[in-house]
Amino acid sequence: MMTADRPTDDRAAALELDRRDPLGPLRERFLFPQTDGADENYLVGNSLGLLSSDARTAVDVELDRWSSLGVRGHFEGTSGWWQQHKEIAELMAPIVGATPAEVTVMNSLTVNLHLLMVSFYEPAPERHKILIDDHAFPSDHFAVESQIRQRGFDPATSLITVAPRAGSHLIDHDDILAAIAEHGDELALVMWPGVQYYTGQVFDLGAIVAAGHEVGARVGFDLAHAAGNIELSLHDWDADFAAWCTYKYLNGGPGSIAGAFVHQRHLADQTIPRLQGWWGTNPDTRFEMTTSFDPAPGADAWQISCGSILSQATLAPQLRIVQEAGGMPALRRKTEALVDFLDRLIDERLTGRIRQANPRPMAERGCQFALEVIDERVDGRAVFEALEAAGVACDWRYPNVIRIAPVPLYTRFVDLIDFVETLDRLLTEAGAAG
Ligand SMILES: *Cc1c(COP(=O)(O)O)cnc(C)c1O
Repeated sequence: MMTADRPTDDRAAALELDRRDPLGPLRERFLFPQTDGADENYLVGNSLGLLSSDARTAVDVELDRWSSLGVRGHFEGTSGWWQQHKEIAELMAPIVGATPAEVTVMNSLTVNLHLLMVSFYEPAPERHKILIDDHAFPSDHFAVESQIRQRGFDPATSLITVAPRAGSHLIDHDDILAAIAEHGDELALVMWPGVQYYTGQVFDLGAIVAAGHEVGARVGFDLAHAAGNIELSLHDWDADFAAWCTYKYLNGGPGSIAGAFVHQRHLADQTIPRLQGWWGTNPDTRFEMTTSFDPAPGADAWQISCGSILSQATLAPQLRIVQEAGGMPALRRKTEALVDFLDRLIDERLTGRIRQANPRPMAERGCQFALEVIDERVDGRAVFEALEAAGVACDWRYPNVIRIAPVPLYTRFVDLIDFVETLDRLLTEAGAAG
């Protein structure tokens, strides 16, 4: 990585913060992609979190079990595959603020949204609308649209969105609550992101649940950018359901098995519509192979197929690292320190050239920054490409936003100095050339 010609006060301060960081030693467990023989400054854990050596070893363990036990691996020993997801649910529950029974792992995120909408979107002629974020991740938009059509309704009249006000990237919280109130009796479901994927905006999910329930709607969350990033209290907020992927802030690996939450108060309700498969049945009677559906206790009843053991193998140790770190409160403390530090560097060194399109108040953000390139002489896309070439892993969102996420598990304060110095230099060069 690039270093300054002389140590600055900021660099000295960063090194001191790193030295005192209780999470600092965890970084050594993660495997960093390389550019020019050096660890990349990996600021894209919001898109794909890094592999740890623990997770790599765990995959080897499962391959060994498979090769030495064959089919007996399903049941043999304490880590028999047939119930391996239970440990993941135990580890996942505190991360999303749920009881273990309310959490399961299965499929992938968009599939889980579909399965949960089968259960919790029950449109009727008088009440058929779904409220989503106008800039929802395309997959969420498609899932909602197709659910509406599947039930015989029309997205033109059943799909409601809330957009930012003119001149802002951020959604005004009052506008969400006002839309819920406005569509009131016609609203069947509010499906909202915990953290907006583009801007990093965090929403007041408890208030959204309360407003949705007030008008008789169900409320579910897509926590793709929230799980492992911000503190969540799904149970206490009384959310009906939630789904999230595990390859972003939870480091489960590309396409890793996803999470789902169903609130306790729905778990015993046998009238809820559900797509069924054998893996949703009670494990005590499952292998009697009868054809009467005896649901598994808890959110596991939503499982359809047996889970991917190799995917679960990478996820479990990554969640154990979160637990070892002290859970979400500890990650959040470091996030706030990293965000504070980077805010100050950006303000001091990049004002007028970079604008933060993410919210500024700490309560409305996780660790993701959306950095808008506002210097008109500069081609933002070219700067992003130059960052990548210089060993900074980040991502680009059309038309002019560089997204970065200093994730607390493996980002150092000194990485933020390196990042800002590199960006400063590239913007200066691009401005002079432009
Ligand atoms: C990452 C992400 C997805 C991806 O969905 P998959 O089903 O895992 O491919 C969907 N929605 C949101 C909001 C995301 O951030």
